[in-house]
Amino acid sequence: MSTPVRSIEDLGAEFEKYFTQLSEQRYNQTAGLSYDKNLMNSVSETLVGLSSEFLSSYEEPRAFYLDSIDTIAKARKLPLSLEIYEKRMSLISTKDFHFNEKPVNWGSWRQFNALSSSPSDRQRVFNDFVTKIQELAPLIIKRFNISRQVYSLYDSSPLEAYLEKEFLTYEKLIDLIFSLGDGARKPFLVAAEHFAPEILDKDTFEYYDDFYVARGRVYSPLNDFFERKNPLKVVENVLNQWGFEKEFAQIKVDNENRDKKSPSAFCFGVKIPTDVRVVYKPVSPFSDFVSVFHEFGHAIHGSSGNPEDPYWKRYLVPMSVAETFSIFLESLLANPLFLQQELELSEKITQEILDRRHFLNLFFLVFYSANAIMKLEFWKRNYSTEQASARFQELTKRFFWEIPGDYWLLHHIMPDYDLYSPSYLLASIRVTEWISQMIDEYGTEFWKNKQAGAVFRDLATTRGEFDLSVWDMDPKPFLEEQSVFSFL
Ligand SMILES: [Zn+2]
Repeated sequence: MSTPVRSIEDLGAEFEKYFTQLSEQRYNQTAGLSYDKNLMNSVSETLVGLSSEFLSSYEEPRAFYLDSIDTIAKARKLPLSLEIYEKRMSLISTKDFHFNEKPVNWGSWRQFNALSSSPSDRQRVFNDFVTKIQELAPLIIKRFNISRQVYSLYDSSPLEAYLEKEFLTYEKLIDLIFSLGDGARKPFLVAAEHFAPEILDKDTFEYYDDFYVARGRVYSPLNDFFERKNPLKVVENVLNQWGFEKEFAQIKVDNENRDKKSPSAFCFGVKIPTDVRVVYKPVSPFSDFVSVFHEFGHAIHGSSGNPEDPYWKRYLVPMSVAETFSIFLESLLANPLFLQQELELSEKITQEILDRRHFLNLFFLVFYSANAIMKLEFWKRNYSTEQASARFQELTKRFFWEIPGDYWLLHHIMPDYDLYSPSYLLASIRVTEWISQMIDEYGTEFWKNKQAGAVFRDLATTRGEFDLSVWDMDPKPFLEEQSVFSFL
């Protein structure tokens, strides 16, 4: 180890300065606004310098150490990331079908699927996009290989770093996900058979009816009840009851329709805790509620950061921890009491929502189990594109039904992140545990309880020091809860 030149605090402060600039540009890019590539490149290089300085002087805090490796990997991947981003938007597009009078592209595909009443049109777009994305596969794999190379310079790998941050071993994580995917299969297939005729304009689900088709369509009968309700108003109410008035007022929201805007809602903590932004595209009234609740969970988590805390504690949060806060807030929309009281819905409608939420959660479980296992094995076994796609296809068949293996390349997370998918599953299990604690301590209407809000805030403020060791992580309660349907 060489003699430290700068203190960790000083390095952290420099990191934050440049990280914030890069975030702003990445935000613009994801939101479909114009962004400055030259600035992204130069800021990335500065961050590489700071990361190298940290890595040559310090081994602790571990989160900062691992993030420095990741920062170098991200900078080395940046030219390819920009190329993939631009090619994907122009390549994954079809003039045969339109949405908002523009050709359906990677960004508007889900909106098109939510509205199109022709299964054969949806099938044609799916086939077209799955074929076209193959052209980008070599670039996507090349980008993963850069991560692999950079991590290996520090005797690590994206997989090892992920497991360390999430406080898990490979075996424990793989076992956990297999038990979720296998456990969800049967109830999911029963529910899919029940909902298919209503939501697909045909009798059964097929390979091209993906999770996002179901998510964009399954709530349509409920749209009447949500059309005139404003998700932002409802989420504001809840957060006010919990004492987050000040944080809510600071969060910026963008719900405009823009051509190049990401198909998926997202939240960016550009500067923690003062500049947090929520972005979504209207898809359908109820699913917009789900997106808004989910992203506001992230946003409140970000706004709860303590400005006095060092950079790494405020910014470097394990992914499953980030998703814990978003899934917690989102889960209120599957809480019958909440739906009846806060949204003034009847018992019958509440039951409809619950059945549909459970169906989607099971779909999410089987789909993300396939995603997560493929990705974990990808790093462990050094898969080629062909092996990755073949394994993904095999896993979809095991957990639900077989879909073309290259589909994973079209996803908004799988090709873009080294490893993220397991985080949603881990967070869902943790949230079930957390909610039952909340109910035990603050009663069934815990979202009205100021003390419960204070507990939420305390946990949110821990950010990078969230204690992962205190949770049971038993998948059974979550699986059982999601497998309940009124029509069975
Ligand atoms: Zn999220």
